Amino acid sequence: MKKGALFIGSYSSIKVFIHWTFWIIIGWIFMMHFQMGHGWTEGIQGALFILVLFACVVLHEFGHALMAKKYGIPTRDITLYPIGGVASLNKMPDKPAQELAVALAGPAVNFVIAGVLYIFLYVNDQLLPISEIDHMTGGNFWFNIMAANVILAVFNLIPAFPMDGGRVLRALLAFTMDKLKATIIAARVGQFLAIAFVFLGFFTNFWLVFIGLFIYLGAGAEEVHESAKSALTGYTARDILIRQYTRLLPGETLERTVQLLQNTQEQGFVVAENNQVQGVLTRNELIKGLSVYGNTSPVSNVMRKDFVIVAPDMPLQEVYEKLLSNNFSLAPVLDDGQLIGIVNAKGINEVVMVKKALAQKDGIAKT
Ligand SMILES: [Zn+2]
Repeated sequence: MKKGALFIGSYSSIKVFIHWTFWIIIGWIFMMHFQMGHGWTEGIQGALFILVLFACVVLHEFGHALMAKKYGIPTRDITLYPIGGVASLNKMPDKPAQELAVALAGPAVNFVIAGVLYIFLYVNDQLLPISEIDHMTGGNFWFNIMAANVILAVFNLIPAFPMDGGRVLRALLAFTMDKLKATIIAARVGQFLAIAFVFLGFFTNFWLVFIGLFIYLGAGAEEVHESAKSALTGYTARDILIRQYTRLLPGETLERTVQLLQNTQEQGFVVAENNQVQGVLTRNELIKGLSVYGNTSPVSNVMRKDFVIVAPDMPLQEVYEKLLSNNFSLAPVLDDGQLIGIVNAKGINEVVMVKKALAQKDGIAKT
């Protein structure tokens, strides 16, 4: 299960969650209506509109997830946030053509929904002029849903990370160049667009300022994440495997761990007994453990048992994603159930730094 999120169902073994912050939007809709002097009916209608719209967002995310599944890439879950949905794909496909298909599948779903609604409204003679789009909750409910789907698709196709359009652009660039270079260029284009939006927005529509800021902030974070992932393409856990490391026994005291932390380069430890991994202890747990139990407590009291297990042939991209999403700085590497070493965040960062430096030498300016 997911922290702070409500499980609402699953399809094709992909679980769908609603993050608790999503309900803020629903509450806000009701408040807006009450403030405008509307009653419960309008409030419920407004909330219903948002719920249907977010159902379309879920379908959009399933577009990405099911297309990825076609290429053998599983999706952990789909979670709805107030700003939209997120499908947690284990990784993006390496082949540009496949990434293009995965990125386009989301917006394509919204165009299909809009198309179906268009036909439905046309047949029932309920199509309204474009100028009616502004009144989102008034007028024709399904007409508004249709318009919102078109807006959703077009907005997502803006060629900037973290939008799908950023991935489309990167995939297109990657047909002719190295993926890391393509990522850096795509991120640049996104940031340039963001600044242009903010600038234009001041003179035209203030919404553009908002969108621009959102893209600018998102593009920075996504660039770090995306360029790290593309730098790791082609590597496996074996490439950064550390065979020389300190193992702790579950019964050892925190005091000894403190000494190890101070006297070695190691920032985290695998706890194992008889070559069986029992847990992982990083600085965070150690500090927390010391304040709660004191330094005579055994390691087994504070180690994390929900550790990530890495196989030697696991793609490094996947290792990176797993460590990041579970908030670990290291993981044991098991080959046929045997502990053969560890991988850590430091090893991953080194690969990323080296690859980025080489990409820059090849004619890309500093990032
Ligand atoms: Zn999308």
